[in-house]
Order: sequence, then structure tokens, then C-alpha cells
Amino acid sequence: MTEYISIQDALTKGTGKVSIRGWVHRERGSAKLKFIVLRDSTQIIQCVLKRDTFPEWEEIDKLQVESSLQLTGELKKDDRATTGYELLVESYEVVGTSDKYPITKDQSKESLADKRHLYLRSRKMTSMMKIRSTVFGAIDEYFKTAGFYEYHSPIFQSVQCEGGSDLFSVDYFGKKDVFLAQTWQLYAEPAIFALEKIYTISPSFRAEKSKTSRHLTEYWHAEMEMAWCKFEDIQSHGEKLLKHIVKAVLDKHKPELEILGRDITKLEPTVKKPFVRMTYTEALKILKEKCDMDIPWGKDLRTIEEEKLTELYDVPIICTHYPKQVKAFYMTEDPEDPRTVQGCDFLAPEGHGEIIGGSQREHDIEKIKQRLIEDDEKPEEYDFYLDTRRYGSVPHGGFGLGVERVIRWICGLDTIKDAIPFPRTMERYKP
Ligand code: ATP
Ligand code: MG
Repeated sequence: MTEYISIQDALTKGTGKVSIRGWVHRERGSAKLKFIVLRDSTQIIQCVLKRDTFPEWEEIDKLQVESSLQLTGELKKDDRATTGYELLVESYEVVGTSDKYPITKDQSKESLADKRHLYLRSRKMTSMMKIRSTVFGAIDEYFKTAGFYEYHSPIFQSVQCEGGSDLFSVDYFGKKDVFLAQTWQLYAEPAIFALEKIYTISPSFRAEKSKTSRHLTEYWHAEMEMAWCKFEDIQSHGEKLLKHIVKAVLDKHKPELEILGRDITKLEPTVKKPFVRMTYTEALKILKEKCDMDIPWGKDLRTIEEEKLTELYDVPIICTHYPKQVKAFYMTEDPEDPRTVQGCDFLAPEGHGEIIGGSQREHDIEKIKQRLIEDDEKPEEYDFYLDTRRYGSVPHGGFGLGVERVIRWICGLDTIKDAIPFPRTMERYKP
């Protein structure tokens, strides 16, 4: 039986006879020679087939982009080849043919989106997906090492948490008060009384009607919740988590970041330097002084303001103490300024904006009920949740990180849509 090795392993080996398999990434031919750049999940390599060697030339001559092949041949160093080596093919097998591959060089965004299932094979998407895999692993690793349990909340939920306007309702056997999760939070808080420190990475759903480069309707949400914590602990876990993720990607994926055209010097400060901390009120002052943007106190920061603010720094900003009215009902009032809450948004540099939202949770049951009423919610529907404040309530808090927002920032992508294999937005749910 032939033993196949990866193209990367073949390149590392550098000489001798090897068998490899993969897909035709590029091809060109003449009467006597066929050059094929073969791609597998690890690398690409130039392969050459000579007419003299193969009497069945017609089959080789017809080979097109994305045909799948198994090749055996002799490696030789060749500085002209993209990855430094060439395979002189001695035998081959066409495993799957390909005819007129629909993705050619010049493609509109729209047609690439229609052909997303094929576009995944591009070197850019492959690089993003490798980084994505590392990001998920790094999140897991960070929380497990820090003593958190992985915990799972339901996706079908009967209460809303982050505001009703972007809820997806589901026809649940004719019942209409069922929604897809926007966050795990109301189902995570009950579990900290059992496990104390918990995390998850799970899909969240938001019926975002805005067409922005940072909103999906289905995204992966890494969330944590912990008992006995102070507001500062939430911020420090967020900072350490982001440093851990970026470091893991930089350690492992310099080649992929290069394929994506990412300037990695822009990411290094995040690993090395402390994050910038400021309150919402200070942020307004900076926006006014340095960016000539005058925002009345009490209004939420918009994308454009977050962009301008984050362009001023080379590390993420932890912005805290937002006005109560722009944040969710469960956030604790700040004892020193009850107009504000102990909530924090992490804003990624280079204009990427919010990647984490977190807070210390309100423990006063009366205040929570009051805030629910102000949000036009019925406190009795939250009775199960309010039990968390009735029986042995403790100070606690947590945050949610948008995994695709982090990937977009790390990879330097124009849009969040390219941070997930099959993006779901208001306009697109196919293929
Ligand atoms: P934004 O103001 O940008 O809409 P948000 O305040 O609604 O964000 P949170 O409710 O705090 O966000 O959610 C936690 C995290 O989830 C955010 O910091 C962000 O990273 C991510 N997130 C929120 N909405 C989306 C979305 N529609 N698509 C992708 N990621 C999202
Ligand atoms: Mg939102």
C-alpha cells in the first residue's frame, strides 16, 4: 500500500521519493510538459509531468483546477517554485475529475458568496479556518487552566436578555414565546451556585437588521460567569483571555497571517502591553479633545465613535462605567456613581470596536425587578431567574466574547462574514 505524506512533510523532507495527494490549485501545460500546483490542507507544491513518461497524455492534458490527484515522484529543490521544491511525477492517479471550476480569479463578492461551499478551499479561507480552530482551542485552554467548568445552556429560551428587538422567535409546537438564545446568561447564572466558575462556546442568534461589517445573525459566543468575583476580576480575565488567544495565533500561524496579508506587528502590543482602561465619561472627553466628536453624556457609543477611539491605541481598550440606560437590566449600579453601571466593553484596536461585553451582575432583587419593568418586561416571567437572588445570592459577574469579531480583528478581515465558513446575515442564509 502506498503511504501518502502531507505536502508540508514532503517539503520538510526535501529529497527522495514521496507520494502525496490533494487538489489541483493551478495548472498550465505545453505540448511536452504539464505543471500542476497541488494543494492539500497543509501546503502547496509544484509538480511536473513529462509527456515522455506518460503515453496516456490526453488525460493529463485535460486536468483542470480542483481535480483530486494522488502522485508519486522525486522531490528536487527548485528556487523558482513557490514553495522552493518541485515534484517530478513518476506515477499518478486521478481520483476525482473537475470540470470548469466556477471560481476563477475575478469574482464579485456576491458570486463568491453564492459559491461559498467552494470558496472555502481558497488559501485565504483555509488560513482563516485554521486560525479559527486555534482560537476556539485557546479559549477552551484558557478557561480550563483557570479552573472553569464547561457548562451548556439551552438554545431554545423563554426569556429575553439583551433587548427584544433582535430576538428570533421560533414556532415551538404552536407556542410563540420561544426564542433562540442571544446569550447564555440567564441560564448560566443559576449554575454558578453549583459550579462557581463556568464558561461556554456556543452559537448565539440576533436578528440584527443592520448591515454592518461586524454583525452576524448567528455567531459563536464565548461566555464566562463566576461567583464571588469583583468587577475587576471580570476585566482581568478578559484581558488575560485575549492575550492568550492572540499569543496562540502568533505562535502557530505566522504563515497563515502572511497569506491573509496581516501585519503582525499590529498584534504584538496586545500580547506584550497592558490594555488601556478608561471610563465611558473619560472616553467622551477623549473623543471630544482628540477626534472632535461631541457626544452628549448618556448616549451609547456608536460604531463610528468606537472606531475613532480605538484608532488612537495599539492595544484593546477596556471601557467601563457606561450610563445605566444604555446597558442591560442585570448590570450592577456603580456605588460611587449610580447613574452608571459596572459594565465593561473591550474595544479592539485599528477601528475594530467591541469584541467583549461584560459586567458585574446586580444582586438586589428589587432593583432588577424595577429595571425589568422599565424595559417593559414582566418580572413574573423571570421568576426562575429571580430565584438566583432569593436563595444564597453572591456577588458575581461575567462576559461574552464574540468569537468572529476576535477572528476578524486578528486576521485583519474587512468583514466579519469572512471570519466564519457560512455567514448568516439578514440578507443571506444560503448556501
Ligand atoms: P453591538 O453593540 O456591537 O451590537 P452588543 O452590545 O449587542 O454589541 P453584547 O450583547 O454585549 O453585544 O454581546 C457580547 C459580545 O458578542 C459582543 O461584545 C460582540 O463581541 C458579540 N456580538 C454581539 N452581537 C453580535 C453579532 N450580531 N454578530 C457577531 N458578534 C456579536
Ligand atoms: Mg448588539
